[in-house]
Amino acid sequence: MTLALKDISFPETRNLIAGEWVTAQSGRTITVTNPATGALIAAVPSVSCAEVARAIAAAEIAQVAWAARPAKERAAVLRMWFDLILGATEDLALILTSEQGKPLSEARGEIAYAASYVEWFAEEAKRIYGDTIPGPTADRRIIVLKQPIGVTAAITPWNFPAAMVTRKIAPALAAGCAMILKPASQTPLTALALVALAERAGVPAGLLSVVTGAAREIGAEITSNPAIRKLSFTGSTEVGKELMRQCAGTVKRTSMELGGNAPFIVFDDADIEAAVEGAIISKYRNAGQTCVCANRLFVQAGVHDAFVRQLSERVAALRVGEGTAPGTEIGPLIDDAAVAKVRDLLADATAKGATIAVGGKAHALGGTYFEPTIVTGTTREMAFFEEEIFGPVAPIFRFETEEEVIRLANDTPFGLASYLYGRDVGRIFRVAEKLECGMVGVNTGLISNEAAPFGGIKESGQGREGSRYGIEDYLEVKYLCLQL
Ligand code: ADP
Repeated sequence: MTLALKDISFPETRNLIAGEWVTAQSGRTITVTNPATGALIAAVPSVSCAEVARAIAAAEIAQVAWAARPAKERAAVLRMWFDLILGATEDLALILTSEQGKPLSEARGEIAYAASYVEWFAEEAKRIYGDTIPGPTADRRIIVLKQPIGVTAAITPWNFPAAMVTRKIAPALAAGCAMILKPASQTPLTALALVALAERAGVPAGLLSVVTGAAREIGAEITSNPAIRKLSFTGSTEVGKELMRQCAGTVKRTSMELGGNAPFIVFDDADIEAAVEGAIISKYRNAGQTCVCANRLFVQAGVHDAFVRQLSERVAALRVGEGTAPGTEIGPLIDDAAVAKVRDLLADATAKGATIAVGGKAHALGGTYFEPTIVTGTTREMAFFEEEIFGPVAPIFRFETEEEVIRLANDTPFGLASYLYGRDVGRIFRVAEKLECGMVGVNTGLISNEAAPFGGIKESGQGREGSRYGIEDYLEVKYLCLQL
C-alpha cells in the first residue's frame, strides 16, 4: 500500500540509532498492517539487544553536551520540532490512521495534541527553577538545584501513536536528558516520522534514538542497562508491573501510565444533553481504546431512563468505517484479540442478566469492526466492572445515593480518570475529593491537555505527564549545603 504523502521522505521505516538511520544488523523485520483492511503497510527493523545498547552508549555521550547547552537553545530546537510537526500534520495524520485505524479527523486532532506537548515543554525548558531554603543555623545556606536525570527511555502504546511519544520525548529533551524510544509494534511509523522531524529540527546526533522490534528483548536491555536512569512507560498494568520489577535491579526512576477503569457519574441534577455528549467523547473516542475512556457509567435512578434513551439515539447513529473515509466516527479495533475481549465481556454480562440496548456484535463491515454498544441492567458481578473494556461498549449501572456511587466508583484497584455530571457545587466538591483517581472531569468528558498533569494513582500508575509537573519526572534534586 502506498500512502499519498506530501513529504517523499515519509514514511521512514528504519531505526535511528546513535545518529544514523539503519536497518537491523540481522536483517530481521516486523510488519505493520492497516487494521481497517488487514493490508501490509511496511516492514520495520527488529533490532537486537546489542543495537539497543549501542543507542544507549551514544546517548550517554550526547546527553552531557546537550545538558550543557543553555536552556534557551534546547527550547529553540524543541520549538522548531513543534513547527515541523504542525507543518506535516496531514502526512502524519494519514500515517497514523493507516497503522492505527482511528478516523482521520481524530488523527489530525492527535497530531495537534502531540505537538502541543512539544510547544509546552519548549517553554518549560527555560523555567527549571531551583530553591533556596533558610538553613537550620545562622551560618548555613541551603541551595537546591534541579538537574537532568540523564539517559532515559520510553516505551509507548499503539492507541495514541503520536501523543504518547511527544509527551515523553519533549520533557526529557527540555530537561537536558537523552532518550531511547521503543514505540508499539503495531504503530511504529508515526513514531519514526516524528523522530525524523526531531532530527530535522536540530536534535543532536545520538541524543534521541528510536528502536523497534521484539518488546521483551528491547525492554530487557532498557531495564537492565545501568546507563538508563529512568523509564517512562504507557501501556497495560500487567506489563508496567513487570517493567517496574525489572527496573528494580538498577533502581531506575519510573513513570507509569497504566490501565484505567474510569467511572462516569451522572447525578439527577445533571444537564442530560451535556452528559450524553460527554459520554460520547469519553467512551467512544478512538473506538473506546483510551486509558481514560469511561469504563463504567453510573447514572442516578431519576435520570437513568432519559439518559439511556438519549445516549442510545446518539450511539445508534455513530458512523462506523475506515478512518480515511469522510464522516467516519468509529474506526476498527486494533486487532482480533481486542474484538475477542469485547465479545467475551458482553457474553459474560448477558449470561448474568444484562440487556444489550444498542449494538452488541461484530459490525457488518467485518474485520475488526465492532458495533458501538450500550449495555443496561448491569451489576457489580459482571466482568466489565473490574476489567478495562478498551472497546466501544458502554455498561450503564443504575444507582440511588451519593455514598453508594462513591463506594462503587472506588471499588477497583485502578485510579486514573473519573467523570461526574451535576450542578450541585457542594456535591461536586465532595465527590471529586473522595474519588480515588488522578484526574476528575466535572461536566466534561475531555480532560487531556498539555497544561494539565495527566496521571493516575493506585495501580493506574505513578508520575505525571504534561504541565509543570511533567518535567519534574525528568529532573533530579541536588542540594548544596553552604557553611559560611
Ligand atoms: P497494550 O495492551 O496497549 O498493547 P502493552 O502493555 O502490551 O499494552 O504494550 C505497551 C507497550 O509495551 C508496547 O510498546 C509494547 O510493545 C511494550 N511491551 C509489551 N510487553 C513488553 C515487555 N515484556 N517488555 C517491554 N515492553 C513491552
